[in-house]
Amino acid sequence: MSVDYQSLAVKGVQALSPYQPGKPIEELARELGLNPSEIIKLASNENPLGPSDKALSAARNALDEMCLYPDGNGFDLKQALARRFGVEMSQITLGNGSNDVLEVIARCFVDSDSEVVFSQYAFAVYPLVTQAIGARGVAVPAKDWGHDLDAMADAVTERTKLVFVANPNNPTGTVHTADAIEAFLDRIPEQVLVVLDEAYCEYLVGDEYPDGIRLLDKYPNLIVCRTFSKAWGLAALRVGYSISSPAIADILNRVRQPFNVDTVALAAATAVLEDEAYLQKSREVNEAGLQQLAEGFDRMGLSYIPSAGNFIAVEVGEPAAGIYQALLAHGVIVRPVAGYGMPRHLRVSVGLPQENERFLDALAEALASAGLGA
Ligand SMILES: *Cc1c(COP(=O)(O)O)cnc(C)c1O
Repeated sequence: MSVDYQSLAVKGVQALSPYQPGKPIEELARELGLNPSEIIKLASNENPLGPSDKALSAARNALDEMCLYPDGNGFDLKQALARRFGVEMSQITLGNGSNDVLEVIARCFVDSDSEVVFSQYAFAVYPLVTQAIGARGVAVPAKDWGHDLDAMADAVTERTKLVFVANPNNPTGTVHTADAIEAFLDRIPEQVLVVLDEAYCEYLVGDEYPDGIRLLDKYPNLIVCRTFSKAWGLAALRVGYSISSPAIADILNRVRQPFNVDTVALAAATAVLEDEAYLQKSREVNEAGLQQLAEGFDRMGLSYIPSAGNFIAVEVGEPAAGIYQALLAHGVIVRPVAGYGMPRHLRVSVGLPQENERFLDALAEALASAGLGA
């Protein structure tokens, strides 16, 4: 009998189930024998506007450099980010998507004796990176679908190395105010790092929400993570970053892959930061879309979790998998969230007005066929 190679993997990895991405358009098109253009994907919180023209032309120009290694220090992008946020370049760590940065943080600061605290229903990558290291993940029960920040602070022990806070959170869309986040940070010991994942911060409307970057001076144990995948519309190119103290950034930059962000991605991200009109449009389309979806759910008598992101978790009844399949048959891809312990919900990303409409129509039909609808 030959070697069981799976048993050779480190313990945490043996028990790991991989991240479940949204179903790709091409895959559903193949399954249904449809043209990809007939399918809408509202499954991965992507920007429905398509890319910024400025990003696109910068990316095209950068292709001329494809035979050269990228700038491993990402000088231009770091400089643009530093200017935008009023921080030093030495505080920035670039990643192949912010997922990459989240993983690097865990690898730098967590070992198999450590505990990592996150919330129930929080972003799936937090338990994944924790388990891959063989550390103990502590999932703190949520409160009204959101993080119970007090209970999370209570869950910190002498073994806790890291706390993940998503604000707004994915997949629930819940958000905490600046006061609540500061009250939480006040309770976390200085030697415990807090990752404030602000993947959706560009969509926040209102002054009561925190800008994590403004908190860095007061809380040296804070790491703020952001991404170009959502409001900036560059999900395929994989660019994210963290901003922290220079000392923490120095550690992260030792461990990240030297060329973890490629030339095309660096160019597009640097250029899109100049496209304030695109960001503004992204916000407007999102705000209108959230309202359109909420009104549609209200009409159907469905309850949903009010969202501060570019998606909504809507309760369609148990099991939501049947409605998910029925939507697929209508050429509409959304995201089941049973893997998050939310078997009655589906998460739908905000699309363009006509996409939202098509999703709502398909949902009404799917519910009616299942005998659940109005
Ligand atoms: C989408 C998302 C990210 C960003 O992922 P990228 O790797 O940058 O594409 C990070 N955190 C949360 C909570 C997200 O939903």
